[in-house]
Amino acid sequence: MTNAPRRPGRHFLQIPGPTPVPEGILSAMSRQILDHRGLEFQQLGKRVLSGIKSVFKTQSHVIIYPSSGTGAWEAALTNTLSPGDKVLMCETGQFAVLWAGMATRLGLDPEVIPTDWRIGADASLIEHKLRADTAHKIKAVCVVHNETSTGCLTRIDEVRRAMDAVKHPALLMVDSISGLACADLRHDEWGIDVTVSGSQKGMMLPPGLSFTAISAKALDASKTAGLKRSYFSWDDMLANNSNGFFPYTPATGLLYGLAEAIDMLNSEGLENVFQRHARLSEATRLAVRVWGLELVCRDAKYYSPAVTTVLMPDGHNADAFRKIVLDNFNMSLGTGLNKLAGKAFRIGHLGDTNELTVLGALTGVEMGLELAGVPHKKGGVAAAMSYIAETAQPAKEAEAA
Ligand code: PLP
Repeated sequence: MTNAPRRPGRHFLQIPGPTPVPEGILSAMSRQILDHRGLEFQQLGKRVLSGIKSVFKTQSHVIIYPSSGTGAWEAALTNTLSPGDKVLMCETGQFAVLWAGMATRLGLDPEVIPTDWRIGADASLIEHKLRADTAHKIKAVCVVHNETSTGCLTRIDEVRRAMDAVKHPALLMVDSISGLACADLRHDEWGIDVTVSGSQKGMMLPPGLSFTAISAKALDASKTAGLKRSYFSWDDMLANNSNGFFPYTPATGLLYGLAEAIDMLNSEGLENVFQRHARLSEATRLAVRVWGLELVCRDAKYYSPAVTTVLMPDGHNADAFRKIVLDNFNMSLGTGLNKLAGKAFRIGHLGDTNELTVLGALTGVEMGLELAGVPHKKGGVAAAMSYIAETAQPAKEAEAA
């Protein structure tokens, strides 16, 4: 603990994950440790392993690792590919850069389609590359669904159609670490072979779990894949998961939280969860436009429902602005990553977020712009308020009363 004086009220954690954890999940996790080889755990294991499938819209296996999302990235590559395999990746932002870097370190041969970091992956460029690959040297297409660094969302359905258009047999691997439970994601319908995600974003849990949905085709590929793997081996995991257990000590406390998170998402309804994210992100973009600031995402087709990345005007440092917001209003905004460092800040509006959370966050940003002397027009929050009021839908219970 620091010696800094207590700051009253709650901290506004408006980074694009980890996100604040709802009280219901915190109390679900506040349990004594249980025997992970016992009957009670088995019931919990079965419950979460089956429940998480609906969030991915899949009937296939979903593996839950006690790891951050990066572990699931590694598992996706090492379980399906062999040394020297070519993988097609799209440099949509910092997380795509990191995944491609991992592929190189693992001994794969990534071919990276560049972008200017202001749109999602361009399906027509993927189609072009695959069409040229008549020898089918490309073994996997890897795309980031929601680029957390830029606020651009890739249209995975379009990527699937591009692959089908040229009948390319590569695996489709999707990083939906900050997309899951924020934006629609249809693992089965979109023919995704491996979708990876994490606990600390739309799933509203603390960091520490990753999720990997696996198609039958990816499972087949894992039988012959030559990259080395041990801790992340899918077969050990699936063999144990078949009766609710894990091959090593699972993160039992987080799994209690996961069971609660799945219940919460089902109770709200996944489609309502997506609509809520879409609406709150639109309110955020409206405010940014009124301020006269520029969104990093330059094409509405790719707008992210989870995070909005905002460019600072020339001559103004985004991190200095973030510090002013933190010091004055007790709110953390996301920092700019890699080439956006100092040039952009990120407003997270994902997970357990509602109208007033977002309006509070936008108010802090608008006041911060004033205090930091960043040129802007007033009225962004007012525009967001009007939009939120106009699009309000009373909660179902209130309607019924
Ligand atoms: N991919 C995306 C899109 C992310 O947003 C993140 C983390 O923010 C990662 C990968 C890495 O996940 P983790 O930090 O959980 O290892």
